[in-house]
Amino acid sequence: MARVALLLGGNIGDVKRTLQAAQQLINERVGAVMRCSNRYESAPWGFESTNPFFNQALECSTELTAEEVLDAIQQIENELGRNRAAEQIEKAATGARYTSRPIDIDILFYGSEVISTERLQIPHPHLPEREFALAPLAEIMRSFRHPQFDRTVGEMLEAVRQTN
Ligand code: AMP
Repeated sequence: MARVALLLGGNIGDVKRTLQAAQQLINERVGAVMRCSNRYESAPWGFESTNPFFNQALECSTELTAEEVLDAIQQIENELGRNRAAEQIEKAATGARYTSRPIDIDILFYGSEVISTERLQIPHPHLPEREFALAPLAEIMRSFRHPQFDRTVGEMLEAVRQTN
């Protein structure tokens, strides 16, 4: 049994409902959702869009391996309307690394494990620089210590706020 921290986000469609649907599917397929942050609104990051993003962090208790969690969340993203092929076309057209999307689910932590494979980087490598991920995460696991940086989630959030 492992504790997995996930970040949900989206900026297209009825984001509130999509996040609720994602949470329910995660609870059924990944494992019981133990804690859940409020939804946080932020400006799009890394690309131009007029739609704001909403992000929410969840902690769930899972029997799945990290790879199986990734399979499950990608399946959930697909079912909730994420269209990777269309995103690739938009990225090619705009040259941006990121695009608008109805739902994005990232694995932030899988217990205190450090995993680096072709498909998976855990802890999520961009977590320390992303206030939009750290703010909801700090609400549910402020004192959790990053296994590579010897800093808690709350300390990383304060650090990133000082640089912004
Ligand atoms: P994105 O299109 O932003 O959802 O990126 C998804 C890709 O990132 C997938 O192909 C995953 O294999 C890869 N990936 C690497 N590390 C992670 C992680 N910690 N959580 C989710 N996806 C990851």
